[in-house]
Amino acid sequence: MNYHNITKDDMLNGEGLRVVLWTAGCTHCCDGCQNPQTWDVAGGLEFDKNAENELFEALNQDHISGITFSGGDPLHPFNRDEVIRLAKKAKEMLPSKNVWLYTGFLWEDVKDCVDLTNIDVLVDGEFQKELNDNNLHWVGSSNQRIIDVQKSLKENKVIEYCKP
Ligand code: SF4
Repeated sequence: MNYHNITKDDMLNGEGLRVVLWTAGCTHCCDGCQNPQTWDVAGGLEFDKNAENELFEALNQDHISGITFSGGDPLHPFNRDEVIRLAKKAKEMLPSKNVWLYTGFLWEDVKDCVDLTNIDVLVDGEFQKELNDNNLHWVGSSNQRIIDVQKSLKENKVIEYCKP
């Protein structure tokens, strides 16, 4: 897997202050995408041991609420296994931290074929320029849903995340 950046103290991509892993690779080609440089799966840098250590060191800070996987698309088929492994590791090593994941796929596309056991919140759907609203929290366009993954899996229907 390749990645473009690891940002720390991010306030825009989920609740609280977060560490964000920006993965490389996206096939959605949304009109108006702000990060087209992330579409190439071979772009950026290899996500190696040093990057993984950097990620987990940043996550293991008291003021950090959790980790967000973004991109690109963390659920690009090329990234899925690695991202799901990292989510599992985060929950095992640092169970007090929450895990958010942004994807251009819909919940319905991934719920049965991706192991979402270790994801707390999934923000789904492609960016739709005509539905762009800068007043929205955590999403770029109003079609995107902020999904409580564990409740949705349990009840077998989409349950939107509510701020605790
Ligand atoms: S899913 Fe995200 S990264 Fe991919 S094209 Fe759409 S807005 Fe850009």
